Amino acid sequence: MRKNNNILIIGSVAVDSIETPFGKRESVLGGSATYSSLSASFFNKNIGIISVVGRDFPKRYMSLYKARGINLDGLKIAEGRTFRWKGNYNYDLNSPRTVYTHLNVFADFDPEIPRHSETSKFVFLANIDPDLQRRVLSQVKGPELILCDTMNYWIDRKRKSLLKLLKNIDMFLLNESEARLLSGETNLKKAAKFIMSYGTPSVIIKKGEHGVLFFSKHFSFSAPAYILETIRDPTGAGDTFAGGMLGYLSHVRKINSPNIRKGLVYGSIMASFVVEDFSINRMLKLTKRDINKRYREFRRIASF
Ligand code: AMP
Repeated sequence: MRKNNNILIIGSVAVDSIETPFGKRESVLGGSATYSSLSASFFNKNIGIISVVGRDFPKRYMSLYKARGINLDGLKIAEGRTFRWKGNYNYDLNSPRTVYTHLNVFADFDPEIPRHSETSKFVFLANIDPDLQRRVLSQVKGPELILCDTMNYWIDRKRKSLLKLLKNIDMFLLNESEARLLSGETNLKKAAKFIMSYGTPSVIIKKGEHGVLFFSKHFSFSAPAYILETIRDPTGAGDTFAGGMLGYLSHVRKINSPNIRKGLVYGSIMASFVVEDFSINRMLKLTKRDINKRYREFRRIASF
């Protein structure tokens, strides 16, 4: 019998408002759990999310996850308003300026994993309060791979809790400014070393349009980003990257150096699609064929 290859994702399900030099959108679907689960769904049909929304969360969004086979048993509907985030980007699309973060129903969310998800083999602790990430992790039995993400908001407010989490995960994911903020190092290799000293065996540092770095005791890897002509909205690139990478690794099951390298490339490819349009719009039109085509082009771009 094939072993359970479920992916379990805890993260935000959000209503976002976004402004980039190429347009603006009010109250669109967002959140780290949204982007990552949709991205992973191209590689794995066994995904569940743990999150919370308020009564104001549009019903039509629910059907969107269900259409992709994403299990919503762990998505609580609570009294109050859904998490809301507003970000502005200038021409340097790598870092948004957060206009507001309204935690709303997340402020007193107590995550509970549905029974059938307790044995999930692949866990993504997507960007959310590290206390919640730790509570979810304590309920999972014997996962094979735990990937964890964060952002400056939590590094500033919950640094201790975040550092404590690092000894219980396998891969830590953050972007270059977050790696510098957390470690106090400007050099990214030194930043990765500092982060690994808290117990995580590997670190992935996202560099936006400049690609991604992977560090572990055994090997390092640098992947370029796919060269894009159209970038309209970078929101969710990191989460989409993580979902694509974890989706690929859960599909192949074997966590070794060649597969991690390919996973990083698949993650980059998924991210390269999502930024071509606002919110999750590009992902809704995406096909497996588009992904495979871009994978082949990526190979040509990166080989020498
Ligand atoms: P990224 O992949 O980093 O661009 O993630 C963008 C998503 O993160 C947006 O859809 C936001 O709703 C969500 N987000 C923003 N701030 C936070 C936060 N403090 N905690 C959890 N999710 C957040």
